Amino acid sequence: MKNKNISLKPYNSFGLEVFSNNFYRASTETDILKLLNKFSNFDPYILGGGSNILFKNNIDKPIIKIEIKGIEIEKEIDDEIYISVGAGENWSNFVDWCVKKKYGGIENLSLIPGNVGSAPIQNIGAYGVELESVFYSCKAISIKKKKIKIFSKKDCQFSYRNSIFKEKLKNKYIITNVIFKLTKVNHKLNISYKPLKELIEKENISKPTIKNISNFIKKIRQTKLPDPKLIGNCGSFFKNPIVSKKMFKSLILKYSSMPSFNISDNEFKIPAAWLIEKSGFKGVDEGETGTYKKHALVIINHGKATGTEIYNFSQKIKKSVLKKFNILLEEEVNIFE
Ligand SMILES: Cc1cc2nc3c(=O)[nH]c(=O)nc-3n(C[C@H](O)[C@H](O)[C@H](O)COP(=O)(O)OP(=O)(O)OC[C@H]3O[C@@H](n4cnc5c(N)ncnc54)[C@H](O)[C@@H]3O)c2cc1C
Repeated sequence: MKNKNISLKPYNSFGLEVFSNNFYRASTETDILKLLNKFSNFDPYILGGGSNILFKNNIDKPIIKIEIKGIEIEKEIDDEIYISVGAGENWSNFVDWCVKKKYGGIENLSLIPGNVGSAPIQNIGAYGVELESVFYSCKAISIKKKKIKIFSKKDCQFSYRNSIFKEKLKNKYIITNVIFKLTKVNHKLNISYKPLKELIEKENISKPTIKNISNFIKKIRQTKLPDPKLIGNCGSFFKNPIVSKKMFKSLILKYSSMPSFNISDNEFKIPAAWLIEKSGFKGVDEGETGTYKKHALVIINHGKATGTEIYNFSQKIKKSVLKKFNILLEEEVNIFE
């Protein structure tokens, strides 16, 4: 059912007060198909938990909020378990559910806000693990053809904070369900992230469990990132840029303390937070917006910012980084006009 004059403030983690006159909720695939069949040339925005969206203004386009629930075990083969999850389930709750059941593989992704159905869109990742390592398949409805399609891991074309759903198929499919492949025993723990390793050593844990890892990740996240319930934000506003070896060599000659990660023979990832900080934007306030004092990559809403104000500030940061380092930052956040 269409809802009018809906405030989107509770549905975006920036806490922006914008309105929609064209707001729909879908709690089943049938709800979605009914909507798509009702309107010709229907071109909606799809909303999950709203933790990776910047609403620039009031939204004229129709919005479909995905609220499909359900967690079911599909099958178990030897050490592995396949779990089918509704797109509208909360991601962090699903991770907690897996940790409690001792299913391994996503413990490093604890406490990431948002919904399960949005997780494949940007191949969510944190602390050495990306969604693609546990993704098996997803079900999605084509907005134009109004048909259901199953996407395998290969079909999704996952890469760093990216997938086919952010590229060729951007705004073309609505994900309704995701199947994950996790481990029941012989978990492959990832403790490559330095602060995680240090915490485990400090606590003298010789054989960490997935629960230990999940708890430590939560601890690290809570000290580093602002809670959107208290300070409006969308986590990292920009992606960490990837530069060529040639570019990296010229940068490191000039900035010997520049952190970097060698990700392939010819590619280096540079932390965007460092570039922003060195461009003079860490903990900087501009009106009702600014960057978080503990993490330059997080743009915040002090309470009364508008989407346009936040957007303009982000573009100012982008320009400064480009001028100083000749690196063009790319938004991780999705901008809804
Ligand atoms: C404090 C904080 C910390 C964060 N930390 C991380 C982190 O560590 N790692 C990380 O990767 N991200 C992080 N994020 C970003 C965010 O949590 C993730 O991108 C998350 O997956 C977004 O989920 P969502 O449901 O809120 O998506 P939304 O913001 O609602 O939507 C994001 C995009 O996905 C599309 N979309 C949503 N649902 C569907 C669907 N069912 N079908 C098709 N398209 C859909 C939307 O149209 C939009 O383009 C963080 C955000 C915050 C606020």
